[in-house]
Amino acid sequence: MHIIDTYLRTNFPGQDMRDEQRQASRKPIAILSYHQTARPPKRGTPVRALVLPPWRFALQMHALKLLGWQGLSMRDLEPYLQGEKAGKVFGITMDDGYLNNHQHALPILRRMGFTATAYIVTAQIGGSNAWDHGKGVPTVPLMGLEHLRDWMDAGMEVGAHTRNHVNLCECDAQTAQAEIEGSKRDLEQALGIEVRSFCYPYGEHRAEHAEMVRRSGYANGTTIVSSRARPGEDDPMRLPRISVHLYDKLPLQLAQVTTDFEDWRMQRPNRRTSPLSRWYQPPGTTGASA
Ligand SMILES: [Zn+2]
Repeated sequence: MHIIDTYLRTNFPGQDMRDEQRQASRKPIAILSYHQTARPPKRGTPVRALVLPPWRFALQMHALKLLGWQGLSMRDLEPYLQGEKAGKVFGITMDDGYLNNHQHALPILRRMGFTATAYIVTAQIGGSNAWDHGKGVPTVPLMGLEHLRDWMDAGMEVGAHTRNHVNLCECDAQTAQAEIEGSKRDLEQALGIEVRSFCYPYGEHRAEHAEMVRRSGYANGTTIVSSRARPGEDDPMRLPRISVHLYDKLPLQLAQVTTDFEDWRMQRPNRRTSPLSRWYQPPGTTGASA
């Protein structure tokens, strides 16, 4: 084999280069998960960790841009996730469609020349985070149709996050199907677009839900399993994402995107089940939120 290998490398250098390109396009890709970009509520407020001051978001985007990295929506990331393209890219996703993303994150994304995906809860377009009511989470307005049109006009993507932000694992199959497929249809009818990207509320799902996402015609689905996505290996309907928290420092975030730090950290035996689980669940229980 060695002789053949040497012969091929000497006589067909183009083949060698294509192999190298294939290797490069298999490099893991970090997909970041953001929630709100706003001034955080007072200490002790549930899910406060998911509210990032706009200046922190701007600093993260600037730093990654300076290092030569390009932030992309899930739609724009597709060729990289399929191994067709390679480059210093990372995904930017924003769960729930908060109006403060339109107010604060959108101008920053535009300035950077980045794109991002907002996952919309379609029964609450122009409404609020109704699923959080009664949990001590402050009521926060969500984007309306006019904001979503602005979002898309700026090159950003609109993805679906079910109709009612349900935990799919607590739904019967018929309801789960209606939430997954219905939210795609709602957005497509309201905005006249094709919706390619789906995000599981609370990250919660089973294999059958991933199959529903696939059959509903989505091109990708995201979870909150914390690691980088591996092109050609991870199921496109169950892609991992790295959540960005209020308390995370910039060096950690840069390491999560530009190195294998997060993959290594989550492989350790005493790793946390999910970083987000800490903010919604009482101590001693497991679970997650997105
Ligand atoms: Zn959510």
